[in-house]
Amino acid sequence: MLYDRRYFEDQEQQFLAPYAIRSRGSRGRRYPEALDPFRTAFQRDRDRIVHSKAFRRLKHKTQVFVIFEGDHFRTRLTHTLEVTQIARHMGRMMGLNEDLVETIALAHDLGHTPFGHAGEDMLDELLHDIGGFEHNEQSKRVVELLENKYPHFPGLNLSIEVLEGLMKHHTPFDHDERIAAEEIVFPSLEAQVVNLADQLAYVSHDLDDGIASGILNMDDLVTHVDLWREAQLVTERFTTNLNPAQTRFSNVRYLINKMVNEGVQFSERTRINRGVEVLEDVFACPDRIVSFSPELEARIARLQSFLNERFYQDYRVLKMTINGKRLIRELYNAFVNNVEMLPSQEYEKVLLGDEPRRIVADYIALMTDNYVTSEHGRLIPTQSF
Ligand code: MG
Repeated sequence: MLYDRRYFEDQEQQFLAPYAIRSRGSRGRRYPEALDPFRTAFQRDRDRIVHSKAFRRLKHKTQVFVIFEGDHFRTRLTHTLEVTQIARHMGRMMGLNEDLVETIALAHDLGHTPFGHAGEDMLDELLHDIGGFEHNEQSKRVVELLENKYPHFPGLNLSIEVLEGLMKHHTPFDHDERIAAEEIVFPSLEAQVVNLADQLAYVSHDLDDGIASGILNMDDLVTHVDLWREAQLVTERFTTNLNPAQTRFSNVRYLINKMVNEGVQFSERTRINRGVEVLEDVFACPDRIVSFSPELEARIARLQSFLNERFYQDYRVLKMTINGKRLIRELYNAFVNNVEMLPSQEYEKVLLGDEPRRIVADYIALMTDNYVTSEHGRLIPTQSF
C-alpha cells in the first residue's frame, strides 16, 4: 500500500496535540487548487519553498560574515537549515504539526537581503518614506508575489497558515519600532516555535562563528557571560584534554540543548497555566505561549549584548557591514536613476505603474552577496564613499 495524503491527515488527526494545526483543517490558498493526492497541504508548501529561486540564493547570502571570509561560517542557508532542524525537534516534542513548522522555518528568511542586517538597514533607510523595508514582510512578499513560475497565480500560492506564520515572525533581534507590542497577535504554536528556534539558533551559531573567527575569546566569555561559564563548568566536569575547538563545540552544544529543553518545558508550563487546550485557545491567548523563562531570557539577553559589543561592533565585522551598505546604496541609486537597466520583467512592472523604488528594492533584496559585488563592479567602477 502507498501512504497517501489521507493517510498522513489521519495520522495528524490521531497523533498531534489538540492545539496543533492540522492540514486537513487548512483554510486553503488564495487561489484555490485541487489537493495533491499524496502530500498534505503543508508538505506541498514545503516542497514549493525548497524549489524556489529565493531559497537557492540563501546559499550566497551573509549571516554575519561575508561568504568570501571563509567556507565554514554560517550563511543564510545554513542558518535556515539549523533553525528548521531545531524547530522541528521542538515542535515534535510539543505534539505540533512538524510539516508546518518545517515549512515556516524554511521560508522564514527568504526575504533577507544580501549582506545580512546591514543590507536590510540600508534598504529600510532608502525606502523610509514609502513604507521602509523589513525582512519578515519581504519573506511574505517573496512567496506571495515575487516568485513567478506558475501560470495561474503570482508567488507560490502557499496555505494561509504558512503565510500567517511568516507574517508574524518577529524576534527581539528584529526590534521593529513600527510594530507596537499590542498590535502583535500571537500566531499558531508552530509559528511561535520557529521564532524561538530562530533566536536560539542565531545566538548560538554567532557565538560559535565569533570564536572560530578569532574575534571572540573564550576566556572573555567565561569572565563576562554566565551562560558560557555554566557551559564551561559542565564541559570540564565530563571531559578532559579537549582542544580549544572541541571545548567551543562542547559548550555551544550544551547551550543549544539547554535553550531547547528549558524553552520547551517552560512553554509547556505556560500552555497549561493559560488553559490552552484546543487550537482556538491558542489564538484567544493574549500572550506568547512559546518562550524562554524570564530568567533564561535575561541570561540570553546578556549573551546577546556581549555579542553586540564584542562581535557585531568589532571593526572586522563593521568593515564588512559598512562596505555592504555602500554597495547596496550605490547599486540602488544606479538602478533608480536608470530604471531601463532593470531586467525586462522588472522594468515592465515599472511601466505598468508600480513604484520604481520598490521594484528596485525587490530586485536588490533577492540578489546574493556575490551578485551585488559583481554587478556593482560592472556598473559603478569608481570608488565613491
Ligand atoms: Mg532567521
